[in-house]
Formats: sequence, structure tokens, C-alpha cells
Amino acid sequence: MVIKSEDGNEMRSFNFKDEDESQEVRAVERRILLETLANQLPSDSVSFSSRLVNIQREENGETKLQLQDGSELSAKVVIACDGIGSPVAKWMGFPEPKYVGHCAFRGLGYFPEGQPFNPRVNYIYGKGIRAAYVPVSSTKVYWFVCFNSSSPGPKITDTSLLRQQTNELVRNWPADLLNIIDLTPDDTIIRTPLVDRWLWPVASPPASTGKVVLVGDAWHPMTPNLGQGACCALEDAVVLAKKLAEAVKSEAMSIEEAFRSYQDERWGRVFPLTIRANVVGTLLQWDDPLWCFVRNNIVIPKLVSLGPVLEHTNFEFEPLLTN
Ligand SMILES: Cc1cc2nc3c(=O)[nH]c(=O)nc-3n(C[C@H](O)[C@H](O)[C@H](O)COP(=O)(O)OP(=O)(O)OC[C@H]3O[C@@H](n4cnc5c(N)ncnc54)[C@H](O)[C@@H]3O)c2cc1C
Repeated sequence: MVIKSEDGNEMRSFNFKDEDESQEVRAVERRILLETLANQLPSDSVSFSSRLVNIQREENGETKLQLQDGSELSAKVVIACDGIGSPVAKWMGFPEPKYVGHCAFRGLGYFPEGQPFNPRVNYIYGKGIRAAYVPVSSTKVYWFVCFNSSSPGPKITDTSLLRQQTNELVRNWPADLLNIIDLTPDDTIIRTPLVDRWLWPVASPPASTGKVVLVGDAWHPMTPNLGQGACCALEDAVVLAKKLAEAVKSEAMSIEEAFRSYQDERWGRVFPLTIRANVVGTLLQWDDPLWCFVRNNIVIPKLVSLGPVLEHTNFEFEPLLTN
């Protein structure tokens, strides 16, 4: 990992293995991850473009799901992983996720002849703006630019405007970053207001009701400052699969109990991470010149140590049985 200031000066570089043997970073393109997971399933088991518009509990204990195309499903069990705007979470009484005061532009730079970068994460810190880029394949480099904004702003679909706004934020920043943004196809550039929802004990609804349960961002949207949102969604899936398998295999545990046990196990991980990600984001987005000077000249070069900072990424679990 390399950390630079906006003028291109290197403040610090780390080798993960030198800092902590257990640490490594794997950058994965979302499309590849989804295809890899979907390929493990029978080909007709995923139904795309099935937007849920309404959910209702039926008298027989099943859950009725109404889709945008007018079709309806009756489900014995619903595992809702429908993201930050989850209609299922809304139905369960969760409040809307809260905007945290910064937004991110993201994209995937494409180098048809092969990308020239080492396999490392590159961070660049400015005043109230930060950016990063990391190769995700031999031809693609993921980047983001995170910036302060008093409101989430309107949804922008004009991709040339998104590119223009990104370039305005990082004008005169290191050439590598500008080049990657330049080589980013329009259709991969997006702007996302960053939000989270803190799962206060007692005050927050439970993660499940009856045989309906929330997973991932639908339950615990967190800001991306620790790079843990998708990781936590995958961890949720592993824990939930284990609990459900126990319930299906034995009479001792019902589906509802399995869901509650999943919540109990996961809450202690996702709630502190959500808060920590929020606090880290607030610190990193401070634009006070004195703080930025201290950060660039003392905190990053002399005080930060990667092992403890990344300790939260460790997640131990038993492999899932496949039979
Ligand atoms: C700028 C940024 C950078 C990030 N960086 C990282 C990172 O480095 N590492 C990391 O681990 N995480 C990162 N994240 C977080 C990560 O993207 C999310 O936590 C992750 O995508 C959550 O996965 P999910 O499956 O719960 O939800 P999503 O990925 O949002 O998937 C939800 C799915 O539900 C579908 N859906 C939505 N509404 C409906 C509906 N009504 N009916 C049916 N389907 C619906 C959507 O189409 C989508 O397919 C980042 C997020 C942002 C914004």
C-alpha cells in the first residue's frame, strides 16, 4: 500500500506481509464475484429483473412478494439482500440509512493493452478529498474519489458530467490517477452518496421477523471507509448458511431461532464496524488545513501502523459442508 499527498509526495508505503502475516488485500471486480457465486447455482435458480415492490405476511405463515412486473410469489423463507434501499428493511420498520456528509465517484479504468501498475493499493489524500486506485485484473484498475458535500445532491445520469465533476475535484493530482480516470469507460462511472445506519441495541428492529431475514447492506449499511461492507455481507451469508443448515437438519432449532441466532452472532461484529467506519471517514474527510498538515507530516508517516488498523478485517470461520 502506498499513501501520497495530492501533490504526489509519498508519505508512507507498507507491505502487508511485513506488517502482519495474516493480512493481504484482494481487489475483486463486482461482476466477477457475482458471476462466480451465480455459477455455483443451477442455471434456472436466479431470476433477474425481479424488482420487489410490496411484501405482506400471509395467514398461513408464508410471505407474499409482489414484483414490479405484476407477478406474485409466496415464500416459505425470505432472505433479503436487497441493498441499502431495501424495501424489506422498510417493511420491517428500519429507518432510511443516514447520509454522512460525503459522496464518492467510482469507476473502472480500462487498459486494453494491459494495465501498468504493481498489485498494490494507492491512496492519495487532499483537503476534504481523497482518492485511491488499485488494479483488479490485468486490464482493469478500480478507482474512487471521495469528497465532502453538504447534501447528497441530485441523481446524475449524464456520465460526461460525472467525469467532468470528478476531474474538477482532482485537477493537478498525480498523473497516474488522472490517466486512469481518463481511460474509464463512461458506463462504469457512478456517483454514490455515502450512508449508514447504526443498529442501536433495543432501539433498532431485529434482523428478522418470522421467516424473513435481512443480510448485508439491507440490514447494516456502513460507509466504505474500512472497505468492509461487501466483506460483511459475505460473512453474513456464511454464518446464516450455517445456522439454516442446523435448523433444516435437526428438529432442535426452528428457522426463526436460526435467524435470531444469526443476528446475535453478527450484531457484535457489524455494529462496531459501522461506527468505526463512520468515525474513520469523518477523520479522513476533515478539510481543516492544520489537521491535514498534522495528518500528512506526523500521523501517516510516523504514527500509523497497519497491523492494528487492519485487525478488523480478520474473520475466522469453519468451511461450510457441501453435503
Ligand atoms: C464508494 C464505495 C466503495 C466501497 N468499497 C468497498 C470495499 O472496498 N470493500 C467492501 O467490502 N465493500 C465496499 N463497499 C460496500 C459494498 O459495495 C456493499 O457493502 C455491498 O455491495 C453490499 O452487498 P449487498 O449484497 O448487501 O447489497 P448490494 O450489493 O447493494 O446488492 C443489492 C441487490 O439487491 C437488488 N435490489 C435492490 N432493490 C431491489 C428490489 N426492490 N427488489 C429486488 N432486488 C433489489 C439490487 O439490484 C442488487 O442486485 C463500497 C461501497 C461504496 C459506496
